[in-house]
Amino acid sequence: MKAPSIAVVGAGVVGCAVARELRARVPEAAVSLIDQDVLATGASRRSAGLHFPRGATPRVRSMTRHSQDFYDALRTARPSLPIRPLGLEVVASETSESELREIYLDRAGLTRADRVSEPSVRLPKKARVWRGEGCLHADVSSLAQALVHGLRPSVTVREGQRVTAVEPLREGVTLRLGSGETLTADRVVLAPGPWLSAPAWADLVAPLGARVKKVVALHIMRPPDDAGRAVVFHDEDAFLLPLPDRGQWLFSFTRNDWDVNPDTVSDGLGADDVREGLEVLRRYAPGLAEEPIAGRVFCDAYSPSREPLVAALADPRIVFAGAANGSGFRLAPAIATETADLLGLPTPPQPPPRPERAGTPGTTGTTGAAASAASVGTAASAGTAEAAPPAGSGASAGSGASAGPVANAGPVASAGSAGAFGVGAPAGSGVGAAPVVSAGVVGGRVDRLRSSQ
Ligand SMILES: Cc1cc2nc3c(=O)[nH]c(=O)nc-3n(C[C@H](O)[C@H](O)[C@H](O)COP(=O)(O)OP(=O)(O)OC[C@H]3O[C@@H](n4cnc5c(N)ncnc54)[C@H](O)[C@@H]3O)c2cc1C
Repeated sequence: MKAPSIAVVGAGVVGCAVARELRARVPEAAVSLIDQDVLATGASRRSAGLHFPRGATPRVRSMTRHSQDFYDALRTARPSLPIRPLGLEVVASETSESELREIYLDRAGLTRADRVSEPSVRLPKKARVWRGEGCLHADVSSLAQALVHGLRPSVTVREGQRVTAVEPLREGVTLRLGSGETLTADRVVLAPGPWLSAPAWADLVAPLGARVKKVVALHIMRPPDDAGRAVVFHDEDAFLLPLPDRGQWLFSFTRNDWDVNPDTVSDGLGADDVREGLEVLRRYAPGLAEEPIAGRVFCDAYSPSREPLVAALADPRIVFAGAANGSGFRLAPAIATETADLLGLPTPPQPPPRPERAGTPGTTGTTGAAASAASVGTAASAGTAEAAPPAGSGASAGSGASAGPVANAGPVASAGSAGAFGVGAPAGSGVGAAPVVSAGVVGGRVDRLRSSQ
């Protein structure tokens, strides 16, 4: 059988993680990674880069475990990568304990504390503090580049190439590039970050219902302690992240400014951005709110369910991956796994489960992620194993663009659930048939930390 060709469009942290996963699963595949700019310069370059061990739904918790295992293993395998662990403190109203216990992973090991360790943070009346572990901070742009670096030259990286059209043909999906070239692949993964409305795929992606929201974080010019912890303000969808290398704190808060354009949104902080951010910051750390303010402004794609979207589009050879609701860094490895599952790529055998750190017998870790990360660029990654809702029906090469929806892959759709890869154009793939909508929503709750995680 001929080696499959797969084009990944968008080389942010999601596209880079997907390219890496595809290559790991099918080493002989011809993978192209295409970006209109240089690697990881979209939302990934502006990311605060905080991972914390929580998720509002079973699927997001499962993805969180998977990604955390992946990043932990990656750090161990390559200590020079820009990922560092840091402690966690959660500030929430005293009635929130049961909710926190549900949404934070057991491995966070949350325990009550008397106060926040950072002296400038004060507790509002009736607020409480929980202390835990399992946070990671990364320079997301550098990390994304590192994920792909080891894959060259077997993954062809095409920077500075805007995709201007996506044309599903019988023999493959043809991408038209701004340079005038065309590229035809058996399968295409769209990982466009907030560029949901790019003319090349706006119509294809619109049925997913994803939207683009502004994301703002303030930089506070007070050097944090080297051992500073991330402080999550649970009731505010906000957090303080110590960045000792930059001599700053980063304050991320929720900004409800929707349907912004990624090509124009990054004009710097506006007066409303600063006013809204300081209003929240003053409630918890009035001293920090007095420091000179700077910040970062961009946007991200958000899904209707507030869970990431991994979905086949009208033509099932084209898969969308992203819309991670301000959590694209922390969930990228899991999104990549779901994407490869949806494409029907084989998963390798899994090593034995790893126990949870916080002592929850019987809870399995996401060992495939660890195995994958530990041998960057070579090992194949498997899926997450626990808390998996039923796998979605998946895209099936050859299934044609069905009238019915193609569901999201579940957290770990089994490889067998989707069509075997390597089949060329699905006969009667129904180009132009009714769009296939992502579903796969688990439960009604949404991830409350909407803004930047
Ligand atoms: C200020 C801020 C703080 C954040 N903080 C966190 C955090 O703490 N933790 C966390 O997990 N997440 C955080 N996020 C969210 C996270 O950064 C994003 O979810 C993630 O970077 C999205 O990655 P992506 O690969 O989907 O998109 P992107 O990084 O935007 O990549 C998409 C790529 O597609 C390319 N592209 C677009 N159109 C075309 C085209 N026509 N042809 C070719 N290429 C194209 C773009 O050039 C871009 O490189 C934050 C985001 C922001 C803005």
